[in-house]
Amino acid sequence: MEMIKATRPAMPDYGEYVKEIASIWETGVMTNNGDKVRRFRELLSEYLQIKNIDLFVNGHSSMVIALQALQLEGEVITSPFTFVSTTNAIVQSGLTPVFGDVDDSYNLSPESIESLITDKTCAIVTPHIFGIPCDIESIERIAEIYDLKVLYDGAQAFGTNINGNSIGRYGDITMFSFHAIKVFNSIEGGMLTYRDESLHRQFELYRNFGITYGESSSDVEVVGMNAKMNEFQAAMGIVNLPLHKNEVKKRKRIAQIYCERLKDITGINPYDYKLNIDYNYAYFPIKVTEEYGITRNELWEKLKEYGIGTRKLYDKLTCDYCYYKDRNYVRKTKYADKIKDITLDLPIYGTLTEKEVEYICDTIKKVGKANAFRNKPA
Ligand SMILES: *Cc1c(COP(=O)(O)O)cnc(C)c1O
Repeated sequence: MEMIKATRPAMPDYGEYVKEIASIWETGVMTNNGDKVRRFRELLSEYLQIKNIDLFVNGHSSMVIALQALQLEGEVITSPFTFVSTTNAIVQSGLTPVFGDVDDSYNLSPESIESLITDKTCAIVTPHIFGIPCDIESIERIAEIYDLKVLYDGAQAFGTNINGNSIGRYGDITMFSFHAIKVFNSIEGGMLTYRDESLHRQFELYRNFGITYGESSSDVEVVGMNAKMNEFQAAMGIVNLPLHKNEVKKRKRIAQIYCERLKDITGINPYDYKLNIDYNYAYFPIKVTEEYGITRNELWEKLKEYGIGTRKLYDKLTCDYCYYKDRNYVRKTKYADKIKDITLDLPIYGTLTEKEVEYICDTIKKVGKANAFRNKPA
């Protein structure tokens, strides 16, 4: 049997993509806010029902731009249980990360935020990790009391809705990534959704070197970078967008099979999905606790032997990476320190078959010590 991959990109029909890019050879416009980028922006705005949207070359640079455009200074409370991009963006923008703890949603816990606020705190910058929303209501209540900006790293959360609203409608700014391995991709790509429409002009400046164009000459207003989405990326986004709903539907079905089949296995704990949230099922994380009989790392290794690829996201907190760990950043990461050792992400993507999911579940049941014992005939 062929190895079951941990993840696979959602790709459109080859012919559809070729058809979409053909006009680029007629217009000669490959980048710089061309027709396709503008159309992709409109389609996304319509799809998400959000007016304020801007597109970028990737998610990471759009987060840096978001932080710079708000002209923030001081400390930012964030979660260390994330892809390193979140922390890098904060530090690259001249801000000081303060690492809070996570709760059972894998996201920043509101209690830990309050205990870390000082008179230097300017913002909360935190992910919806695995596409699972953080506790938006509590976070925004705290932000209001202490007058903090809220920026969400929604890189993994495209397509997640709360009470029927896109997750991009919350906070001051939300960043999304359209990188190849996300649930929805434009090869690479980034998007900011935001509340204050005056930010649009800032984002346009920052993603194009800070240049303003006058009648006869140009000028530079801010220290911008180059973070423009190009036409080939937008074309991929345009042909992939109509496929997104079905991709999520297939993933949801897989998640349901996982939940059903894993629920009786001692020590294997899927996330507790809430009814008012439409998840995008970007990942399928489980917590492997002691009762399972072998550790998360041993399970990862075993599954590999059985031809099943899984991912240990995130087996290191960002504040423990060598660049960050000796810089004396404040951290309060007791539960995160534990979560990082017990979390495993099972394969989930539209092309994964039900048979493969069942094989994965049967294997998890078989290799856990406690369960193997329990399942022996009496
Ligand atoms: C993928 C990802 C990013 C970076 O997005 P890119 O588009 O690859 O730059 C940032 N944060 C998180 C949590 C991610 O998963």
